[in-house]
Amino acid sequence: MRYAIIGDIHANLAALEAVLEDIERQGGADKVWHLGDVVGYGPDPGECIELIRRYDHISVAGNHDWAASGKIGTDAFNPDAAAASHWAAAQLSLTDKEYIDNLPQRIEEADFTLVHGSPREPIWEYLISVTLAGENFAFFDTPFCLVGHSHMPLVYSYDENGNCSGSRFWEDIELVSGGNRLIINPGAVGQPRDGNPLAAYAIYDSSIGMISPFRVSYDISKTQDKMKAEGLPVGLWTRLSLGV
Ligand code: ZN
Repeated sequence: MRYAIIGDIHANLAALEAVLEDIERQGGADKVWHLGDVVGYGPDPGECIELIRRYDHISVAGNHDWAASGKIGTDAFNPDAAAASHWAAAQLSLTDKEYIDNLPQRIEEADFTLVHGSPREPIWEYLISVTLAGENFAFFDTPFCLVGHSHMPLVYSYDENGNCSGSRFWEDIELVSGGNRLIINPGAVGQPRDGNPLAAYAIYDSSIGMISPFRVSYDISKTQDKMKAEGLPVGLWTRLSLGV
C-alpha cells in the first residue's frame, strides 16, 4: 500500500492541487493521511475541504480547523492568524464546519500514530527541538508518529537507550521494525516555513518500508492574488513567496 502523507494545507488550493497531481506522477497513492490544518491563512477553505473529502483519507484535527469550526478560541493566535481564522469561519458551509469539527485529535493506523502538533499535546505543541521531541516518545505506543503544525520537514529518531536526535527530512527513510522509533513531519502543503516555498509532502510505501519526502512548485501568485482580493493580511501572502 502507498500512503500520501500531507498536512497544513491551509486553504491553499493551488498548492493542494499541485501536490495531488505530483502524487499521481510519483506512482499514486491508495490512501491519503492528512495531519490537520486544512483551513486557516489561505483563500480557499471550503474548496480544500471538499477536494480532500473526495479522496479515500483519514485526518486528524489541527488548531486552525477547530478555530474555524468554533470548537476552540483564537486567543492563542497572532493577530493575522486570528483575522484569517474569522474570515475562514465566515466562508465555510455548515457541512464543512461539521467535517472539521468532528476530526479526531489522534489516529493510530498500523505502525503509525497521527497527530497535528505532538502526541503529548495534539492540537498545540510544536515539535521543533530535540528536547521536546525526546519527551514526546513516551506519549505514543506505535513505532512511528507523524506530525505537522511546525510546517518544517523534520525527523526525530529515538534509540533504545532513550537518546533522541533530529534532522531535516530531505531524503528517503527506511522504517525498520524493532529499530529506532521516529517522529516524522512531512512539512506543509500550503505554507512551508523552512525557507523553501515549494509545497511539501511525503509518500509511505509499506511494501518496501520506505517514507520519501517530496517538494512541488505551484502557482504561488494565484493564491496570493485571491488573498489580496479577499483583504487577507499582507504578511500572510508575502510569506508564501519566501517559504517562511
Ligand atoms: Zn499549520
